Amino acid sequence: MLVRQINAGRGVVENEFSRVVTRDGNSGGAGLVAQIFDLRESFEWRGLGEVPYSALKIRPAFAEWDAERKFDLHYHQVPDHKQCECGAILRGVKRPSDCKLFGTVCTPESPMGSCMVSNEGACAAHYSYGRFRDIAVVAA
Ligand code: SF4
Repeated sequence: MLVRQINAGRGVVENEFSRVVTRDGNSGGAGLVAQIFDLRESFEWRGLGEVPYSALKIRPAFAEWDAERKFDLHYHQVPDHKQCECGAILRGVKRPSDCKLFGTVCTPESPMGSCMVSNEGACAAHYSYGRFRDIAVVAA
């Protein structure tokens, strides 16, 4: 779905995939997800911390395809750098360029926080594309 128009400050969502997604969503796909996955009571997201019922796990009926069980994997916390602002950035409170480490100590080649690790991360995307827009705004 795409936001196609801005109407009195409110976005209007227009379904560009109406052949497969009805107004009620993709009920076939949602049914399959519900059949195979269950909600975890809690999950720790890097930069955000614990968020209740925010992640999925494979149901016991499909345990033979569950890598966590099969390989006895356990979660290990990987703390971000103490000055990392990922949590505030992910909540929309700060911008990547508000972080003192952005573009100096922390770059996609040498990430200090989860937002810079993958190219979909807010800081990595801003590093690759958004910072040039910032420069244009300052120069204007
Ligand atoms: S620039 Fe790096 S250290 Fe700063 S918020 Fe982003 S990921 Fe964290």
